[in-house]
Amino acid sequence: MSRTYSSSSLKPFLKNCPKALDFYQSGTPVDRTDLDRGVCAHAILEYAAGRTFHSREEIEKLADDVTAELIAHGRAFRGEPQPPLVPESAFEGRDLAVEYLMMTDVPRGDAEVELWMDAKGGHDGEARYVALVDLVYRTEIGEEDDTLSAIVVRDYKTAWSTGPDETETLQMRGQAALAALHYPDAQVIVREAVNVRTGAVYRSETLRDEEGEAQLALWRENILRLCDAADANAGARMARPGYGCLSCWYADRCEDCLSAMQGDDLALAWVTAKARMESLQKALRKAAKDRDLKVPGGVAGYRKKASRRPSEYAADVIIEYSYGNTGWNEDRVKGLLMKLKPGVTQIENFAKASFERGDVRRDDFLDAALETQQVARFGVWNDKEENNEK
Ligand code: SF4
Repeated sequence: MSRTYSSSSLKPFLKNCPKALDFYQSGTPVDRTDLDRGVCAHAILEYAAGRTFHSREEIEKLADDVTAELIAHGRAFRGEPQPPLVPESAFEGRDLAVEYLMMTDVPRGDAEVELWMDAKGGHDGEARYVALVDLVYRTEIGEEDDTLSAIVVRDYKTAWSTGPDETETLQMRGQAALAALHYPDAQVIVREAVNVRTGAVYRSETLRDEEGEAQLALWRENILRLCDAADANAGARMARPGYGCLSCWYADRCEDCLSAMQGDDLALAWVTAKARMESLQKALRKAAKDRDLKVPGGVAGYRKKASRRPSEYAADVIIEYSYGNTGWNEDRVKGLLMKLKPGVTQIENFAKASFERGDVRRDDFLDAALETQQVARFGVWNDKEENNEK
């Protein structure tokens, strides 16, 4: 049977393994703690499209209204109602969206636009692949007398790691390829990924000349091929335990992951054990939130433990003990700083507190204060990172 796919439904197939798609398509419940943060931030940014805010209060009012609605009623996706959001995650998403909107306005355009294509890469048959785009807007590219009309497909990302390669993902290329079908008059298609945490915007453009059209058509073909590959063996897809387990929503219940964990392949056993442990830990923390969970000889749960943090007098006390009445001079200040042994985080925090975002002095300061060194780190790396390294 051929199905309708989206970037979300192809993700388990591509990022995890074919069996993860079986879990996904059978509606296996997943922990939504991380997902709901993004859902809430996206919803607020969609409502903010085209609006100009004059104060933080205005932004917070919009964010609070949207968040309250999502916590109470959830959100529909393609007409299907979704469960209410996990409050803690929704509040985190709300804060992210508020901070983003404090940095910049959202362009006027259409939010949450559904673009699609049929199995032949056109618009005549049933939808084979659907992309839900966060924001689509029109703009002009070029100089005053020499401009081209462009359609921008914008995708919000809440991961810290979002960088320039985000515009080259299957998801964003797919959005551009579908936008070309839906907006035949646009001369340029722009893929725009926004890092909601840092405010950075990454763009890639495809000019719709002969070469650009061929590129867009190729992306559509590639997606359709992937949809065909994803259809194969539905319900009995092969498991491929490995790196993909680390981000798999189903690692805590997947028997193939469990078997690999008990096998003789040391690296595979470690990766799958790590995936399973992280997945179980997330579920356990949630389950133990209100009550202890008994295990033979002990319990899993939360305990209050004393831990130290700097008091409000810390800075005064350090200064008093360092200098007393002896006064300041450059050497003493330097001596104090060296005793405090500032690490990379403290130096970065100093830069953030001292220079506005985008101020070149921030980069100059960091270049001067930090140096790069090669250190050996043990871990598990995916094939892409490995190939980039070599
Ligand atoms: S846990 Fe691993 S093997 Fe199991 S479905 Fe997920 S990626 Fe596949």
